[in-house]
Amino acid sequence: MNPLTLLLAQYPVLVLDGALATELERRGRDLRDPLWSAKVLIEAPDLIRQVHRDYFEAGADCATTASYQASVDGFMRRGLSHAEALELLRRSVRLAMEARDRFWQDPANRIGRPRPLVAASVGPYGAFLADGSEYRGDYGLSETELMDFHRPRMAALLEAGADLLACETIPCLIEARALARLLAEFPNASAWISFSARDEAHLWHGERLTECAAWLDNQPQVAAIGVNCTAPRYLPALIESARTVTDKPVVVYPNSGESYDPVRRGWSGVSDAKAFATEARRWYANGARLIGGCCRTTPDHIRAIAAWARSLPRT
Ligand SMILES: [Zn+2]
Repeated sequence: MNPLTLLLAQYPVLVLDGALATELERRGRDLRDPLWSAKVLIEAPDLIRQVHRDYFEAGADCATTASYQASVDGFMRRGLSHAEALELLRRSVRLAMEARDRFWQDPANRIGRPRPLVAASVGPYGAFLADGSEYRGDYGLSETELMDFHRPRMAALLEAGADLLACETIPCLIEARALARLLAEFPNASAWISFSARDEAHLWHGERLTECAAWLDNQPQVAAIGVNCTAPRYLPALIESARTVTDKPVVVYPNSGESYDPVRRGWSGVSDAKAFATEARRWYANGARLIGGCCRTTPDHIRAIAAWARSLPRT
């Protein structure tokens, strides 16, 4: 049985963490780099461990590792050896596991909550390209080529002991199919597959979420299906449409609700943690069972979600 099924049999909501990159930037790291938060794996691993810890303290039942933009090809492009690249991927998982284990050592942290999981982030091929194509999905690669790209990272993350994989911000169906087929090469592994959506019905590449969720519904190693890195206002319709084609748990972790202005190169709008948590209640009512935050969300957002999630009666 996959770890999500076990936890969701006991708890109505599994609280995910929030943005890692946003927190690293708030703590002074410069992430203007094609490797983005993965750069910090090399430069300041202790800081990554601390951010994971802070999310556990805030109430996260699951950490998502700093491997979103990390890939063997990406690290080798920066002059690292194949072995060094694999070691950094494994390190991303170890940092989250160490943070989790230290947190869990204190009995005061174990009250009314499950032992947190470590989900190893598998970002899309476009995140490696770092040219914005992760929000277009127009790579021009075949399913087999996408499997070849993802294989070494997936192997390293699982070998390091991740509880499951978080295949996230996936912009197109072909990449989800490649990931699900690749998963079959690791028969004991499970993953959630989470898409980025451009509106209340479609992925960035144009497929309908319902088409993708219906296809993934038949994949036994896919433990949950959903959306992340998407504007919160689209979530109710996306969750409800996914629920019409699958009984698998629905995972959602949208952006804060601020929007990025590529001309001004900055974020605009407001992100209030309490308002975000109020919306999260609605996503739960819509049918989501795993809820957290993506870009620009912070431990405050997760604390606010956890505050109501813990007040729900146990299942
Ligand atoms: Zn995001």
